This record gives sequence, C-alpha cells and structure tokens, in this order.
Amino acid sequence: MVVIGGGLGGCAAALTAQRAGVEVEILERMDSLAGVASWTGQLLTWILRQEAKLMGGGAADIVHLMESLAIHVTPEFDVPKGNVTFDVTRIEAGLRHLVEGAAIKVRYRSRVVDVEMEGNKMVAALLEDGTKIKGDAFVDATGRTGGVEWCEKLGQGCVQCMLKCTVFGDRVPISTKAGVPDREEKWNYFPMPLIAMESLSSEVRNKIEGTPEGYSYHPIPGELLERDFTNDWRRPDRPVTKRIKSNVPGMLEVVHVPFAKCTLNLPLKYWRQIPGFENAWLVQPLSADGETVGTGFCAQREKTMRVTGLANLFAGGLRSGRYTAFVEVMMAGDLAGHNAARHARGKDLVSYPSSTLVGFFLNEINTECTPNEWHGPLLDDTRYYAKGFSTTDYGEIRERVVASGWLGALGRKLA
Ligand SMILES: Cc1cc2nc3c(=O)[nH]c(=O)nc-3n(C[C@H](O)[C@H](O)[C@H](O)COP(=O)(O)OP(=O)(O)OC[C@H]3O[C@@H](n4cnc5c(N)ncnc54)[C@H](O)[C@@H]3O)c2cc1C
Repeated sequence: MVVIGGGLGGCAAALTAQRAGVEVEILERMDSLAGVASWTGQLLTWILRQEAKLMGGGAADIVHLMESLAIHVTPEFDVPKGNVTFDVTRIEAGLRHLVEGAAIKVRYRSRVVDVEMEGNKMVAALLEDGTKIKGDAFVDATGRTGGVEWCEKLGQGCVQCMLKCTVFGDRVPISTKAGVPDREEKWNYFPMPLIAMESLSSEVRNKIEGTPEGYSYHPIPGELLERDFTNDWRRPDRPVTKRIKSNVPGMLEVVHVPFAKCTLNLPLKYWRQIPGFENAWLVQPLSADGETVGTGFCAQREKTMRVTGLANLFAGGLRSGRYTAFVEVMMAGDLAGHNAARHARGKDLVSYPSSTLVGFFLNEINTECTPNEWHGPLLDDTRYYAKGFSTTDYGEIRERVVASGWLGALGRKLA
C-alpha cells in the first residue's frame, strides 16, 4: 500500500494500515514528515481524541505523542475544546520515531507528479525522477496547500511556505491526476502567523510563557484598532485584514507553541506598534508582509474515504474534506488507511458509525457541502450539540464506541 504525503493524515493512514497487516510505504516530497503540523500546536476537540484512542488507529499514537509534548494543558477543559498546546519544534522528530519505529518505509524527497491507471484502478505513482512505485491500494494525503501560483494569485504569502515548497516543488493532488476533479477551489485568509519569542519584550514573554493554559491577551493600541488596512496589502481588492477583529475586543490573542502564535494577520510594521512587539520577528510566514492563506481543495470521496468513481485510491487528511483540526484530519487518515488495507486484502470497505462523533462529522456534515460553505474545525461547528455528542463524560464516549462495535477496530490485524 502506498501513502502519498507524510503529514499527519498520511502518517495516521500508514500506521493504521500497517496495524491491519499490510506492507506500507510513504512517499514524501520534502525531507521531513509532519507537513504543516510542524508549525501549529493546539490539540483540540477532547471528545474526538477519546474516540481516536478507543478505536486504536494511527491517530491514537499521534495524539499520545502530542500529549507527551504538551507545554500547556487547559486544566478544566472547555467543552468541546479540551485544549493541549504542544511543542511544535519536537513533533517532526517524534513522528519520525513513531513511523520509522513501526517499520514503515518512508521515501523522502519523493514527489509524485503523475499516476498510472488501468481503467478506474491506480496501478502506480510516478515520481519526479521517473521512478514508478506500484501498489495494490493508494492513499492521497497530499494536504491542500499551494502551489506557488496560488501565493501569487492570492497575495504575497501563503501557508504553503511552511512546507518548503520552492525547494521541494509544489504539492500535486493525486486524485485529480487520477482523473477525478476536486470538489471545489476555495480559499480564505488564515490568520495564524508565528512570532519568535526571543524578539518580544521580557514583559510580554513572561506573560505568554507564564500562562498555565497557553493563551494570553495583549492590548492593541487604539490607532491600530481604528485603522482600515485595505491599502496596506498587495491586493487591496482582497484585503487580508481590513479591520482588526478579535475574540476579546481590543486584545491580541497569543498561543504559546512555543513560538508566539497570533490570531491576526498584519504587515510587520504594524506588529511593531503593539507594546512589547517593537522588535517582533515573524517566523511564519517568512514571505512578504505577514499574510497567511488557506486553500480549500478537496477530493470527492465516499463515506469510506474512497475517491468517487475509483477502485483503489483513498483520500486521507485534509484532502478528504473541508475540516482543519488535527484529530479529525488524522481520523480521516485512519479510515483511508484502514480501507486501503481492506481493499488490498479483498475485504468489504467500512465507514465510521454515525452514532460516534467522528462518524457524524465525516459522514453527515462533511459530505454534503454547498460550494460556498467553508467547514472549519469541529469545535466551530455546533451542529453536533443538537445530536447529543457534547459531553465531558469519558464513560459515555466509551459506551458509544463499544455499542457501535468499533472499540479497537482500527488497531486489529485483518484476518
Ligand atoms: C497556519 C496553520 C495553523 C494551524 N493550527 C492548527 C492547530 O493549532 N490545531 C489544529 O488542530 N490544527 C491546526 N492546523 C491544521 C493542521 O495543521 C492541518 O489540518 C494538518 O496538519 C494537515 O495534515 P495533512 O496531513 O492533511 O496535510 P499536510 O500537513 O499539508 O501534509 C501533506 C504532505 O503531503 C506532501 N505532499 C504533497 N504533495 C505531494 C506529492 N505530490 N508527492 C509527495 N508528497 C506530497 C507535503 O509535502 C506534506 O508533507 C493549522 C494549519 C495551518 C496551516
């Protein structure tokens, strides 16, 4: 089985498939695993984390890893957040130990640029250097960043600079190469810049580092709050930030990951007008003037994660839906990996039970999207409250998983 993309979605898929007993190989275009997760450190959605652990796929291992790297844990979790902030500088190494330790072969610097098909069956992935990698089943876990033409099209900077794309080449979505067009092309500005802690004043640093829950709030000067930033961007027709909006009025929200992760896009010169940020240095995005973009390309898929109309290509991670947060992305990878293994072994495919939160989210919410609807992380989507999924009772969550027959289901070797 071949997994294309070594981000969280691809690693979860590979770990799960390997548990099912098939031989797995990951093809990754860069020299490292973890994808965009190597910069982003808030582990959200407590309920889903418990389901991942109970079902026992690769996502469970990665959640354990993230929890072991925690810098902050919200003591009384806010339903459904249950927030852990982990050290993003250690996630790649941890993931590499996990994946390589499970005897999964990873080919780094191996960018897939095309596919070989026999009818609706994918038979091989073709690397940039002409190497042909054959498989019985494939997972497209190529994420939804870039390529560089999108940075140009949308502004001056993009999330994809997190992925070293200029050096290693652009992302190539595999399902489109296999002949199935993406569900849509959509983008939004994604305010998640990272600032080097060392560049901030000691007063601000102490406040950020000293906060037990990982969040801190810093006053924004009145002139910035009043400013219209439209003409400060390269594309005034698409201003990244027109006016500052913030969850806590007048305050900048900073998350300690351990960079200072801020929920606001501003050109560098304006960052430096915030008290304590006078020498602020942006670590991400490195390009241009502090603008980050998220794109919304995703594969058409069935509830089993199989790409619509194809026999043996599955979509995992961000490729499989318009969600964003780690656990849902990894659980989508788990199912893609599990079903790719089932396909390789000639077994019927399965989908998550809709009586579980992950099933409700992946089966009911994320298949029926209207073209202009953007689905964010589960925690921003309150539809599951009405279905009674919101709980802090571990026993209740376990009972749901047990009743659905999915306890340990992703951790078992296929007969
Ligand atoms: C700025 C930012 C902040 C975020 N913050 C959080 C957060 O705090 N909490 C949270 O839960 N989520 C957060 N997210 C979302 C989360 O990081 C992602 O949803 C998740 O990491 C995506 O994983 P993925 O494996 O699907 O995709 P990616 O991480 O994009 O991985 C795809 C991989 O595929 C590789 N690839 C692409 N094309 C090819 C090819 N043709 N051949 C070989 N390899 C290829 C890429 O190099 C990459 O390694 C954030 C995202 C961003 C962008």
